[in-house]
This record gives sequence, C-alpha cells and structure tokens, in this order.
Amino acid sequence: MDPSNNIEDAILDHSHPPPKYHVHNGVKYIKSTRGHPLLLHKSYRYTFASVSHSKGTSRWICTSHFQHNCKAKIWLNTKQNIVEGPTILEHTHSPPKHLSDTGEFTPIKL
Ligand SMILES: [Zn+2]
Repeated sequence: MDPSNNIEDAILDHSHPPPKYHVHNGVKYIKSTRGHPLLLHKSYRYTFASVSHSKGTSRWICTSHFQHNCKAKIWLNTKQNIVEGPTILEHTHSPPKHLSDTGEFTPIKL
C-alpha cells in the first residue's frame, strides 16, 4: 500500500463545505499552496519526510522542524494509525495560526 494514494484522495475541493478533509485518528491530510502533502494534527502541521516500504510506515516531521528546532514527528502505519513508539507530539512552539473560525484550512507559505 502506497501512503501517497491517501494523500491524493485528500485534494481539497472548495465547492463543498467543511468537514472535507480525510480525517482518521485526528490526522488530516491537507495540501500546501505549493501542492505538497501535509499532515494536520491538533493544529500542528507536518511535512512528509520518508516512507519505509518494508515496514509500511511513513514519517512526517513538524513544519517548524528547522525554524524552531522542533523534534515533533508522526509515524503512520499502513492503516494510517499513529505509531506511538517513535511518534513525538511535543512541540517547542505554539501551533501556527492558520485555522479560521470555521476550522477551514488557510494555506500559508512554507
Ligand atoms: Zn513543532
């Protein structure tokens, strides 16, 4: 199973009212303004880092990884469940303010 398939399924269609994201276990797949796949979890955004085909897991790191030296990262298994062992959900910064009152994703430059 290729995780990117799920990302493609999450292309936003603004002709529909929210909720319009693919949500699973609190994880939302979104796309940046440049079309990069992003993960949204508890208002924090994660960018795709790597995939392990042998284990079927994908690794996503906080988009503030470099800017804030943030070590937060999320591992997902083939069922898109968060793998708790290697996953780190503690951030060194506040979540970026990119959600409107309606919870709609407002793209910001990466
Ligand atoms: Zn972070």
